[in-house]
Amino acid sequence: AVRALDVRKSFRTGADQSLAAVDGVSVRIEPGRAVSLTGPSGSGKSTLLHMLGAIERPDSGSIHVGDAEITALSRRRLAAYRRGIGIVFQRFHLLPALSALDNVIAPVLPVRTDFDKRARARELLEVVGLGGREAALPSKLSGGQQQRVAIARALINDPALLLADEPTGNLDSRTGAAVVELLLNLRAERGMTMVIATHDPGLADDCDEQIRLRDGRLLDG
Ligand code: ATP
Ligand code: MG
Repeated sequence: AVRALDVRKSFRTGADQSLAAVDGVSVRIEPGRAVSLTGPSGSGKSTLLHMLGAIERPDSGSIHVGDAEITALSRRRLAAYRRGIGIVFQRFHLLPALSALDNVIAPVLPVRTDFDKRARARELLEVVGLGGREAALPSKLSGGQQQRVAIARALINDPALLLADEPTGNLDSRTGAAVVELLLNLRAERGMTMVIATHDPGLADDCDEQIRLRDGRLLDG
């Protein structure tokens, strides 16, 4: 299971002011579950997701994945942990100088020769509806298309855990539905665990459970 125990994260907002983005949250996500993370803008969804993905470190509290406390890992082990998860960022974070295909391949370690990464990347781009756009630079793609490249990239290492921040936020409803179907199929096929921050009530409903946040805290009920 993926567990957060009483995690807190504050950001400085002024000379001597700070804001608790996540303010004492504990959650437990069982393997193979699809869990949505909902709440108003600014409620701490992205911050919590980043802490689960070891992108951001909690000020206090701990994150555990299986038997490992990831908040206590060395840098090297942390890097290995990050490679084992897929993250779709709210703002995509594609590499602007790389083609769609090379963006999808980017997280694969060069030493990995156990699968054909170009073929796998093509296949994923096909699945997200971008077959034929492999060579396009991110700047030549629409927001929704960039988002789909980011989703393909998050899946390239076949992660056991996928963290997705508003994966359908920039998609029209049809493409959004296709992406949701893709994610839920992957979960059914491979038992992938998913945590999805979303404003989309339909997507939240399609998940097994909802974690609801308000002002950095869990909303009970
Ligand atoms: P949205 O639905 O708009 O994406 P969210 O629920 O993902 O919102 P967060 O991005 O986690 O919310 O932000 C929670 C709070 O922390 C907000 O008040 C935000 O302004 C603040 N915050 C987040 N990241 C930073 C940062 N790097 N520096 C300063 N403040 C931050
Ligand atoms: Mg967010």
